[in-house]
Amino acid sequence: MATFQQQIAQHAPTAAEIKQRRWIYVPYDRFTDRTGPLTEQPANETGIVIVESTAKALRRPYHKKKLVVLISNMRHFALEQAAKGVSVLYHASPDSHGTALLALQHKRKLPPLTCMKPAERELRLDLASALERGLQIDFVADTTWASASEDFTTVYGSYEAGKTYVMDRFYRRMRQQTGILMKSGRPVGGKFSFDAENRNAYRGEVPVPRFPVFPPDAITHEVMGFVEQTYAHHFGTTAGFNLPCTQAEADAFWKFFLAHALEHFGRFEDAMRDDEVQLFHSKTSVLLNLGRLLASDLIRDVEKLALEGEVPMASAEGFIRQLLGWREFMRHVHEQTDGYRLLAGHVPQEERKVQQEVSPDSTPVAAAAYHPGKTDPYAGATPSALGARLPLPAVYWGTQSGLHCVDSVVAQVVQEGWSHHITRLMVLSNLATLCGFSPRELTDWFWFAYVDAYDWVVEPNVLGMATYADGGLTATKPYVSGAAYIHRMSNFCGHCQYDPKQSSGDGSCPFTALYWTFLERNEERLRGNFRLQMPYTTLRRKRPEEMVQLRARAREAIEHLQSFDRPAYGAESDAATSDSAPPEERSPPRLRHHPAPPGR
Ligand SMILES: Cc1cc2nc3c(=O)[nH]c(=O)nc-3n(C[C@H](O)[C@H](O)[C@H](O)COP(=O)(O)OP(=O)(O)OC[C@H]3O[C@@H](n4cnc5c(N)ncnc54)[C@H](O)[C@@H]3O)c2cc1C
Ligand code: SF4
Repeated sequence: MATFQQQIAQHAPTAAEIKQRRWIYVPYDRFTDRTGPLTEQPANETGIVIVESTAKALRRPYHKKKLVVLISNMRHFALEQAAKGVSVLYHASPDSHGTALLALQHKRKLPPLTCMKPAERELRLDLASALERGLQIDFVADTTWASASEDFTTVYGSYEAGKTYVMDRFYRRMRQQTGILMKSGRPVGGKFSFDAENRNAYRGEVPVPRFPVFPPDAITHEVMGFVEQTYAHHFGTTAGFNLPCTQAEADAFWKFFLAHALEHFGRFEDAMRDDEVQLFHSKTSVLLNLGRLLASDLIRDVEKLALEGEVPMASAEGFIRQLLGWREFMRHVHEQTDGYRLLAGHVPQEERKVQQEVSPDSTPVAAAAYHPGKTDPYAGATPSALGARLPLPAVYWGTQSGLHCVDSVVAQVVQEGWSHHITRLMVLSNLATLCGFSPRELTDWFWFAYVDAYDWVVEPNVLGMATYADGGLTATKPYVSGAAYIHRMSNFCGHCQYDPKQSSGDGSCPFTALYWTFLERNEERLRGNFRLQMPYTTLRRKRPEEMVQLRARAREAIEHLQSFDRPAYGAESDAATSDSAPPEERSPPRLRHHPAPPGR
């Protein structure tokens, strides 16, 4: 951190600046001065506190590229603010954010801090604990979101057991409320959703644009070295890192998408390829989730092009639906269910009791206070409506399974920490749901393996949309398919040892047998689902001999996947014991060895 430290040290505040300025705590995912408290006074009256916490980074074996993009954006944001005249207190600490802030406030005699209400439940817990220990901090609304909690509860009411949320209702309300793509109270183009036009495979119809890449500068290089040393045991690699790390790079990345990819986004949104991983997707999630790009800006940019007739409605509406619809919807679902902990039977009683004791009037942050020893507040909820509980197998860590679709998407995730929506849903999660792998383990895997993963978005996407673990709270049916869908939407099957047209016997694609046996296994639970009537009718028509073969093929496939030893991941957080040492000089964490997952 020598280069960064030298530069930022020049902007450290004097005692007078500490007294006279308004001090704002900027969390690790809100690097913006385009909205929120940083916009409310001139730079020369503003001070910001930023904490680089090793404890948080060690909580999971986060992909090394995720740590690089986060820490490098953090350091660049600090320097960008300093260049504007903001005083910057940049604090690298082995502790959690809350504990580090508390110590810093005490040591530097900082006045009460202002902070936008944290997006991550984990950070809310951490700060609530520090609040109880004396941290002085005021929470204000997080204006980076495009909707408020009331927008969600007005549509669905408060969460209660047995509730189902259909995203479309929320999306329509947001369109009407914001007037986005609306004219005289009616949707532009005559309908709210062009979803039916978003389902083409890609067969080279138009060239795929080459997105700009951003070679690491000196600061990013330092971060890469630090990550390789301190988090050596983590998932993935820093090699080839080229994501945006400054505001200017983030803006350039977005403008490129608008000019060169948006036009074809809608048409090829669901397409999958092994040779074109990004296709026409924006890859903006990582920047949105860090606060570098704001959803409302992106929505306005896309709407403008649509109204000017520059891009087809299927693309513009499709993109806006992802941001104004799905992204906002998911974070509300997470908040309303307290990260799925409120689902019937999923909240440990002690934890509920603790929450009530802490705050009968239940302000969002205080209600989530962390009480070490009573219960582990960071333990994720474990819904599994379909009773899935097999351990997640080694193929998710890169062991070759022979299933080309799975192997190529996993290889991409190991390399990049990213793959697009349909590969997450219809390859990686589809396989897990069909086989009955634990939804919690899959969620944790997505959480550490993807550069854009944070609790508010990864938990509802995996536990809700992708695995039906929430029993239909967020999706009207499980998103599962056999080989036919993957074959139709991708070029994977053409490069695979298995035949997507065969469902049993040697060389048959396991997905199809897994699909039918999944439906059979879960018939009691799912047969009443109106969206599954056709598949159940087909299942019932299958001859008993065919079912015997399908069961054998499915069993063989699951046994094969479970037969590999899983690599060990997990850090003992002894990496740093003193915050006087810069992160680069702390000893790396020890790798804890896990036994291989048990067989079935
Ligand atoms: C199993 C699974 C896990 C996922 N985990 C994450 C995650 O950890 N973090 C994350 O940001 N997204 C997650 N998603 C949603 C979605 O896959 C990603 O947001 C998207 O693929 C990111 O790539 P992109 O920026 O190119 O998206 P684009 O296809 O270009 O879409 C534009 C934007 O819409 C938003 N968006 C689209 N779909 C969703 C959604 N379902 N939930 C929230 N935002 C959405 C994203 O911000 C995205 O940047 C997950 C989806 C699935 C099925
Ligand atoms: S044949 Fe089956 S396993 Fe192979 S790529 Fe296609 S769907 Fe995947």
